[in-house]
Amino acid sequence: MGDEKAAWMRTYIGLGSNMGDRAGYLKQAIDAFCVSSNFRKVVASPVYQTIALTLDGEQQSHYLNAVVEMETRLLPEALLFFCQEVERRNQRVRTKKWAPRTLDLDILLYGDKQMNLPHLIIPHPHIARRRFVLKPLNDLAPMVPVPLPFGKTVTELLTECPDDSVPQMISIRLISSGKTY
Ligand code: ATP
Ligand code: CA
Ligand code: CA
Repeated sequence: MGDEKAAWMRTYIGLGSNMGDRAGYLKQAIDAFCVSSNFRKVVASPVYQTIALTLDGEQQSHYLNAVVEMETRLLPEALLFFCQEVERRNQRVRTKKWAPRTLDLDILLYGDKQMNLPHLIIPHPHIARRRFVLKPLNDLAPMVPVPLPFGKTVTELLTECPDDSVPQMISIRLISSGKTY
């Protein structure tokens, strides 16, 4: 029974990096999903560059952010563990909140699921106030409904987003054109 698999579910993961070879880390994450049999139909958004969000006005390198859409047969907590393992394999070290990081993987959406566990909240609790998340998510899934407490489509959330930062699209491809998984 240990290898029982859940049904395929569509999920959206937010990717971020502001240390070292930022694009390289984002690509490593996409590759980790692509080579695992627990994921299929992997599609990446364009990559955006945004100034870093910090707690105390401290200067940090700019972020590269993107979103990946895929289907997974991992249940939400197993998906979180998978993402944390990929972060660790890519030199992610947790120090203080919002510290610079090589790779951050956040579960944004998991089907139409709502979860509120101490270690896992879905939809991601900050989704509505981060333009660097909503912009690439909107490129992939404008009409997808974001479950409560949001209860709006991605495009509606983007239109109403109070974040006045301007993510700049940059010409990096995370999945080579012509390649499918
Ligand atoms: P933020 O949550 O504001 O984006 P962060 O990504 O820098 O901050 P992390 O240090 O990466 O925060 O993660 C802190 C904790 O958030 C993790 O240990 C994880 O258990 C928890 N967490 C809760 N919901 C989610 C989610 N939807 N996706 C990823 N992690 C989550
Ligand atoms: Ca994050
Ligand atoms: Ca995170």
